[in-house]
Amino acid sequence: MNCPDCGNERTGVIDTETSADGTSVRRRRECQRCSFRFTTYERPEWDSLQVKKRDGTIEPFDRGKLRAGIERAVEKRDVTERTVTDLVEEVESALQDRDARIVSSSLIGELVSERLQQVDKVAYIRFVSVYKAFSEPEEFLSELDAVLDAEVDDFEASNNSL
Ligand SMILES: [Zn+2]
Repeated sequence: MNCPDCGNERTGVIDTETSADGTSVRRRRECQRCSFRFTTYERPEWDSLQVKKRDGTIEPFDRGKLRAGIERAVEKRDVTERTVTDLVEEVESALQDRDARIVSSSLIGELVSERLQQVDKVAYIRFVSVYKAFSEPEEFLSELDAVLDAEVDDFEASNNSL
C-alpha cells in the first residue's frame, strides 16, 4: 500500500478494525517517510459479490443465473430483451451499492420481484412461485390474491382520475 501523499512504499498499520458483518477491514495507516495518515478499506476475500443461498452455502454472484431466472418468468410474455437486460442491471447495481459483499438469495428475489411486478403480473407470479418455493398451495393463492387486489386498486384509481 503506497502512501497517497509521497508515494513511499513503506507504510505501517496503526489501527485495524473489522466491520460488523466481518466482510471488510478498515485500516489506519501511516507513511514511514512523511508520516501522512490515511485510511484503507480492504476486502481481502470478498472483492466480488457473493450470494448466500437458502441452504447456507456461499457462491459468487452470477449475472447469467439471475438473467436465466428472469427469462424463465417472462417466457412467452410481452417483455422485451431490453427490459430483461435493464432489470438485470438495476438489480445488480442495487446489490453493488450495498456495503455488504455477501447478499442473500432471498434479497435478490425481493429485488427482482418488486421490479417484475411493475413489468408483468404473470411473470411476477411465476417468479415468486419459484423463489419463494411455496410449500402450500394456499400461500401461492394468497400471493395471487394480493396481486389481483392491487390490479383492482389500479383500475379503480385510474377510473377515479378520469
Ligand atoms: Zn508519505
